[in-house]
Amino acid sequence: MNLDSSIINVKGVGEKSLLAYERLNLHTVNDLIHYYPRTYEKFETLTDVKHFIPMERNAVYGVIASNARIIRFSGRSIVTAYVKDKNGDAFEIRFFNAPYIAKALKKDTFKVFRGFVSTNKAVYQMSQPQIYDLKDYEKIEGTIGPVYSVTKDITSSKIAKSVKEVIGLSKYYEEYLSAKEMDVNSFLNISDSFFSIHFPKSENDLYKARRRLIFEEFLDFYHGFKSSDVNNVKPLNEKPFMEVAECERFKESLPFELTNAQKNAIKDIFEDMTGKYLMNRLVQGDVGSGKTLVAVEALLLCAANNSQGALMAPTEVLAVQHFNNIKAMCDKYGLCIKPVLLYGKLSAKSKREAYAGIQSGEYNVVIGTHALFQENVEFKDLKLVITDEQHRFGVNQRESLRDKGMSPHILVMSATPIPRTLAMVMYGNVDISIMDELPKNRIPIQNCVVNSGYNKKSFDFIKKEIDAGHQAYVICPMIDESEEDDLNLKDVGTMTEELKAYYGDSIRVATLHGKLKSAEKERIMEDFKDRKYDILVSTTVIEVGVDVPNATVMMIVNAERFGLSQLHQLRGRVGRGDAQSYCILVSDTKNEQSLKRLKVLNETNDGFEIARQDIKLRGPGELTGVRQSGALSFGLGDIMEDSDIFMLVIEMYDHIKDRITNRTPCLIDFRSI
Ligand code: ADP
Ligand code: MG
Repeated sequence: MNLDSSIINVKGVGEKSLLAYERLNLHTVNDLIHYYPRTYEKFETLTDVKHFIPMERNAVYGVIASNARIIRFSGRSIVTAYVKDKNGDAFEIRFFNAPYIAKALKKDTFKVFRGFVSTNKAVYQMSQPQIYDLKDYEKIEGTIGPVYSVTKDITSSKIAKSVKEVIGLSKYYEEYLSAKEMDVNSFLNISDSFFSIHFPKSENDLYKARRRLIFEEFLDFYHGFKSSDVNNVKPLNEKPFMEVAECERFKESLPFELTNAQKNAIKDIFEDMTGKYLMNRLVQGDVGSGKTLVAVEALLLCAANNSQGALMAPTEVLAVQHFNNIKAMCDKYGLCIKPVLLYGKLSAKSKREAYAGIQSGEYNVVIGTHALFQENVEFKDLKLVITDEQHRFGVNQRESLRDKGMSPHILVMSATPIPRTLAMVMYGNVDISIMDELPKNRIPIQNCVVNSGYNKKSFDFIKKEIDAGHQAYVICPMIDESEEDDLNLKDVGTMTEELKAYYGDSIRVATLHGKLKSAEKERIMEDFKDRKYDILVSTTVIEVGVDVPNATVMMIVNAERFGLSQLHQLRGRVGRGDAQSYCILVSDTKNEQSLKRLKVLNETNDGFEIARQDIKLRGPGELTGVRQSGALSFGLGDIMEDSDIFMLVIEMYDHIKDRITNRTPCLIDFRSI
């Protein structure tokens, strides 16, 4: 067997699991080795009730001390039983909506119980525990096990077994770094890295394996970048735009003055588009710095020059918001822009109409999600492509547009501060305009970090803001309670119920999450904007770009579950108008690392500073990274989160490039580039 052998040759894999592997897009042994765990699970050392850590997972050996009880209410059920540990201290175990479990819980049997423990009144409650025989648990006690994403007909432990069978073959990856190079960069050697990413011996071991494999992924990417010519030539601007009076007039008719940063960015963009070379520019500005207007100016210049522009947003909610915004500006200021909204879920008929109008040139600004470019939209004369709030529009999309005979100006707008060198790689020879100034009417957001014990106070505070005519967001990490077994996590459903119960009818609460149909999402966002709701309970779907200046409170529940940049983005949804805004970060975590992160947010509103601290605070001890940027999908690495490793690749490339000519690429799945 070698790396290219089919998975069918792996011991224990039959026809059925082969099909399952195929569904996961895994075909060869090498694919399997690259199928990294989604997360890890640490099997806690056995403890006793005296030493329970509340709000965390605990494992304890004990005896079932009571017969199980089934409590039924309104279609649901809870099974409970008491367990006593070796000291005779009791706790309660609870199972939801699984009445059949009651039979299996036999009084006087000794087992290991492992589950989340509540902070509790008289007696601890352990929810949905996993149950093991002592001798089985002792085998895994203290170890870290992989948890894989699964599909029908295969389990995570089955995948782990298959991986274990073949992981030895990673020896075919030859080492090309010196011991010293690995040591100073905290890397494991390459084959040990493959082993440890699946079966880490310790958290530190996992940390070093991850770093090494991310290095390999980024190296592949960078190597590809260095070998492609697209990045090194500046295409000529065949037909430079003419400056028009309309752009100036629009600026002057706005009810506020543009910030200097906005003016400068617009100036840079106009110089590009009227200049000798095609524009490839990144506008980097913190949340709320007013990037949309900069985009509108660019689109306006393009339209006034009888050309077409496209504006791409990462989500449908955002595309719709941009469309409505721009449409309103066109009407109000009589702009020469004729916008059309294009996204995946249009009806076939409206899609056809939109396509026809784009092809004929009737519409000169096309707004949509990225689906826009995946479909075969024919433009009459596309001269400008703007992407908002994300990084997916990389070098390859530009190449693919060029292959279709189009070479538009490219403008990327992002709120994520990335180092210049990194930007150069991600966008290929890009120019950067930095907008480091917020509109003058902004009052800094006031922050606080509290535990869930303060929820009532927070609710009352929100009510006060609503009574004063404002609105609020409440963000939860999950959509419904079944998503994860961690019972400390709040879901939007439960939160909505809680708020409704607390306020009664006086306050209107809406719920938004990613599983809703897009038309439904849009309606809710629109209604929230139109003040038909006072509170919007949502998952992170509202994360980027959503603009409701009347909202003044952002309450984020289970704040420890989000990455720092993500929290900063979320917080950027408030403080957009001229009223004082507030951000309430709610967390019951005892984890020091998490607390430190939240402290950073509490102390500064500066996105650049937060990004710096974020990198500093990362290190061994964090089992699962929170993926923040969603930029370029690598197997393990995240271009933002792991930007320090990216910088390392750039730094080391010239030293190592001669050694890697025969190296086996590490990047298997590289869809989005
Ligand atoms: P972001 O940079 O996060 O995309 P937006 O473009 O959504 O920010 O702008 C945020 C809000 O600020 C919008 O309501 C917009 O109308 C307003 N705004 C933009 N520029 C200015 C300015 N110069 N003065 C006052 N308000 C502004
Ligand atoms: Mg924006």
